[in-house]
Amino acid sequence: MQQALFQDDAVHLAARVLMDGMNDMVLDYAIPADMNGVARGSRVEVPLRSRSTTGTVINLVEPDAEWGHRLKPLTRLIDDTPAVSPQLMDLAEWAARYYAVPVEQMIRCIVPEPVRRERHEEKTRKVAVLLKWPDDDTLNKINARAPRQAAVLRYLHNGESKREPLADLGGTAALPACRALESKGYIRIEEEAVHRDPAGNEEFAPSAPLELNEEQAAALESIIAACDKAESQPMLLQGVTGSGKTEVYLQAAAHVMKSGRGVLILVPEISLTPQTMARFKSRFADTPGAVAILHSAMSDGERFDEWHAIHRGRARIAIGPRSALFAPVQKLGLIIVDEEHDSSYKQENAPRYHGRDLAVLRARMEGATVVLGSATPSLESLHNVNCGKYTMLRMEKRADGQRLPLTRVLDMRSEPKDKRNLGILSERLRMAIEDRLHKGEQTILLLNRRGFARALQCPDCGHVVACEHCALPLTYHATENRLICHLCGFRAVVPRSCPECHEKNILLEGYGTQKVERVLRNCFPKARLQRVDADVTARKNALRDILADFRAHRIDILLGTQMISKGLDFPGVTLVGVLNADLGLCIPDPRAAERTFQLLTQVAGRAGRGDIDGEVIIQTYTPHAAAIQYARRHDTDGFAENELGLRRQFNFPPYRHLAVLTVRSPQEELADFSLRTLHKRLLAVLPPGMEITDPAPAPIAKAHGQFRFQCTLNALSARNIADIVSREISRLNVGDDITITLDIDAYSFM
Ligand code: ADP
Ligand code: ZN
Repeated sequence: MQQALFQDDAVHLAARVLMDGMNDMVLDYAIPADMNGVARGSRVEVPLRSRSTTGTVINLVEPDAEWGHRLKPLTRLIDDTPAVSPQLMDLAEWAARYYAVPVEQMIRCIVPEPVRRERHEEKTRKVAVLLKWPDDDTLNKINARAPRQAAVLRYLHNGESKREPLADLGGTAALPACRALESKGYIRIEEEAVHRDPAGNEEFAPSAPLELNEEQAAALESIIAACDKAESQPMLLQGVTGSGKTEVYLQAAAHVMKSGRGVLILVPEISLTPQTMARFKSRFADTPGAVAILHSAMSDGERFDEWHAIHRGRARIAIGPRSALFAPVQKLGLIIVDEEHDSSYKQENAPRYHGRDLAVLRARMEGATVVLGSATPSLESLHNVNCGKYTMLRMEKRADGQRLPLTRVLDMRSEPKDKRNLGILSERLRMAIEDRLHKGEQTILLLNRRGFARALQCPDCGHVVACEHCALPLTYHATENRLICHLCGFRAVVPRSCPECHEKNILLEGYGTQKVERVLRNCFPKARLQRVDADVTARKNALRDILADFRAHRIDILLGTQMISKGLDFPGVTLVGVLNADLGLCIPDPRAAERTFQLLTQVAGRAGRGDIDGEVIIQTYTPHAAAIQYARRHDTDGFAENELGLRRQFNFPPYRHLAVLTVRSPQEELADFSLRTLHKRLLAVLPPGMEITDPAPAPIAKAHGQFRFQCTLNALSARNIADIVSREISRLNVGDDITITLDIDAYSFM
């Protein structure tokens, strides 16, 4: 609490407060003389006009000489220790400027909703604690007069902890007996906070550290050395899938925790990586409460409890997806960003920050070490290694001594279009699956994206049935027998004939997981097959249960979308098939090749983790694409070199920063006109070296009932783009039916 005030100053200084929920409205308030501990980052309650609201103290300031004495006083200091540490306050301010968003939006990420609303005050329960155990004589007397009191005493005495929840002693019925015992000094009744643990009903058996191989030991040694020196030069741990990165994380975390500091572990969306969470819970099972999980699917109460457990320093290790980057870990010593290349680290709505990039910044601000881990690092991080900004740690061997799987690329153009498999399954892949079924080995089949191209297309006029609101092709879902828009959720019945030319031939084009499932069931009627996609996993814990079944070999073939490519480890899998590798290569996105390479390499890493070598079969219509060929050879360095060359040539990231400026409105002309105006003004003030594309309809030209127009900015400095564009946006007087967004370091160009 370096900013805590001296008693004397408190009367003089005012608190500058950022109001909740009012885009960066800032007001000064007097600090009442009897209110101690108000500091930067404190949460406070303040009067605003005739009502009361909450906010965050962003600074302590000299009050204005003339007006200072008229300031209204703060009503209440919400927490003893500031909710937002000075470093996180700095991070919020830095990020707000970099991503051109109000500071309030960043504070909202740091102090999550349930904590802001204070709604979910910790629940408490009554517990009885045994203070004194009577001698036999006394106990007999008690038993004779008040058998219930004797029973309570015995129950407490027999328990190991000598304290039991009142509910277990008979609830309110036992209260009079307990009160009587309390007045005689035998027991004490206490209020105890009940911590809502999101993993509460799961048991984690403690796990011992593994003996590291040479590569792991070297990586761990470098990480520990950096942690001990509080060195903040980021480290990139590039380790092939199965090289045992998680074990290195675990031992590094244990070291940092032992030295009394905290650890933050970021993972891609956590429901897809339950194994990582379980491995941390297990390793630290001996220290109950040491590991806190932050999770988007958690209830408000759970989030409230976990946040406070971390804030108080009770939980020393916090694990979570992107947003956990703001977790109030005390005395932060180490940040790990697992699968650092994963695009889920970029937030796709405001504030559009990048979790990995802010993690690097936070580490620097807090003097913590940061480790970015991946088998297929992002080109941004590899570029930073090339520039000497990051240190590279490499692990090239699989921890279990396995060889990387043999990968074949199959040209689907030369496959006969067989009626039975509808061009979904090549003969080669079919035979390979058959072979695994024979031997009792397991197969993973990957299909890119849910509901891909199960569009309804008329073979006569070519008309594609599209969403009324988004103009995008609707996707057919067999379970509901409905057409669904994946952007806005619009649902429509399936037309009997073409809405354009009224021919009756209209049919399903392309395929999704459900169609592949049907083909597979026809080919392998006896196989135990499980489909995994967003439809199936909508039910809570469905994914976890399916993965447990697969691990226990109650499933032969797992068919799924991207979500099965992440961080999974199944020794029984010897075959991985990629059904449609090219999908994702033909979208307007500078990272399309990188993503495809990463996906193929990651999924290939799932094959052959047991004693048997793995095989990977990639089906594609573009077999010579660089992303596919380098992935076939597991050549991450080769791909990176080749792709970085192209990126430099086209002025793409990581050499330049790209930002997407989007204007949306329900009125098409209005959106178009506003962007044109903004574009014209930007052209007039554009500094040399900054480029802007001409305004155009976005690839997704209409979504959620709004027309979308966009242009892309390209510059060496992202900050320059943010400053200039946000200044021009604020000068533009637009009405309520126009939304303008600026996505700095954009990852989506649709
Ligand atoms: P990565 O995260 O790099 O893909 P994992 O950490 O999942 O790799 O490790 C792959 C497998 O190797 C796991 O089953 C893990 O338990 C095992 N493993 C890791 N390190 C060792 C080691 N030093 N000795 C034996 N097995 C190990
Ligand atoms: Zn739609």
